[in-house]
Amino acid sequence: MDFLPVSLDIKAQSCLVVGGGEIAARKVGMLLRAGAQVKVVSPTLNETLSELNAAGKIQHQSAEFQESDLQGMMLVIAATDNAVINQQVSDLARRRTMLVNVVDQPMLCNFILPSIIDRSPVMVAVSTGGASPVLARLLRARLETLIPASYGRLADLGARFRELVKQRLPNTTQRRRFWEQILQGPVAEMVYAGRDDEANTALQSALQEAANPQILSQGEVYLVGAGPGDPDLLTFRALRLMQQADVVLYDRLVTPEILDLVRREAERIYVGKKRAFHAVRQEEINQLLVRLAKEGKRVLRLKGGDPFIFGRGGEEIETLAEEGVRFQVVPGITAAAGCASYAGIPLTHRDYSQSVVFLTGHLKDGSVNLDWTHIIQPKQTVVIYMGLAGLDQLCSELISHGMPSTQAVALVEQGTTPQQRVLVGTLASLPGIVATAEVRAPTLLIIGDVVKLRDKLAWFEGQR
Ligand code: SAH
Repeated sequence: MDFLPVSLDIKAQSCLVVGGGEIAARKVGMLLRAGAQVKVVSPTLNETLSELNAAGKIQHQSAEFQESDLQGMMLVIAATDNAVINQQVSDLARRRTMLVNVVDQPMLCNFILPSIIDRSPVMVAVSTGGASPVLARLLRARLETLIPASYGRLADLGARFRELVKQRLPNTTQRRRFWEQILQGPVAEMVYAGRDDEANTALQSALQEAANPQILSQGEVYLVGAGPGDPDLLTFRALRLMQQADVVLYDRLVTPEILDLVRREAERIYVGKKRAFHAVRQEEINQLLVRLAKEGKRVLRLKGGDPFIFGRGGEEIETLAEEGVRFQVVPGITAAAGCASYAGIPLTHRDYSQSVVFLTGHLKDGSVNLDWTHIIQPKQTVVIYMGLAGLDQLCSELISHGMPSTQAVALVEQGTTPQQRVLVGTLASLPGIVATAEVRAPTLLIIGDVVKLRDKLAWFEGQR
């Protein structure tokens, strides 16, 4: 983190702007909106600044900048096109440990002004730490469209009822949940529609209902598919629930980038194999989910890919159902779909493959026990999950059950992540290729003529 984001209270504080052009005027406007006393030092003023000066909104000193101008100032912004003056302002201000910003020159700043979306009192600031102001502006434009214009009034509603809600719902978790419901539900919609009185009444009755102890004690489990690795592949619903959870149980397949999107305050419990939890058995995970939900928590069970595809999601909700715990299941993009897209291999194609099967290559007692005749069909794509450890055996079994040894196969390593690699070969050659490539889990095998399309569709990988 190159900069610490803070919000400054500059009401009635003296702030200096050096420069009298358009950019200076923009900075002055911002300082005035935040209630500052603004002084502008510049031999000339542009039209906007002249008007502000004539209206007595700013103080103007018609001269070149000199050190004494910094006297008594809380902060200074240099917006001149003179590199020498800009440098001088920066040096002198820093010597006084004063806040200084030089427009478009992050090296000369000890604070920078982010791009903002102003829904006062709600303020969203976007900063790239000076790396790319254009990128910050583009992001700001996207956020502008997401945040309703009357968002500030929603915050005002929060302020009006804050104390009352605190009295009625003394427990902080209950209170947070209550506000989450209000701020994303019908009450918020009433505020956006300008029906504030109605919103007040609706909020009060929701509060009465929420204070009923029976409703409050219920927890819930969200069984959420997190997709194959790229956080961009999460669903909106997954993201919303991730941001509401009190506790998250996750395993090896969930990438750190995705885990970062879980509500910051949520307790994180690793239940994968390896590391601290040393192979928490499935039964223990099931019981843990039940216990946490019964404590009234919102429990996020985050799973790689889709929870219902080789994810044991079925077993987990079975226990929840038996114990009467509320739950919801959110589908995710399964590894086969994600890896295939990002590797440029269509899973079906009218000329090459009319069906696709998903298999687990996980070996039980060291042997692969699969329905070979069903698997080895012409014009069918076979996707094998968990097939790395038994790769040699899988390939030789497929050959001995009748699949041509020249059959095209791709192994996708850490699909959809920046570390993705795709190794292509045949049933006969792939084990050798993989043996020398230092492959790391998770990996997925795609077997079928569609793999050959990859060369043609190589541009596809450009998306990463
Ligand atoms: N529920 C998951 C699968 C869990 S089984 C899903 O729907 O995707 C774990 C196996 O999934 C791994 O052994 C690997 O074969 C596959 N897998 C998951 N994520 C992957 C990724 N990013 N790249 C390649 N394979 C992946």
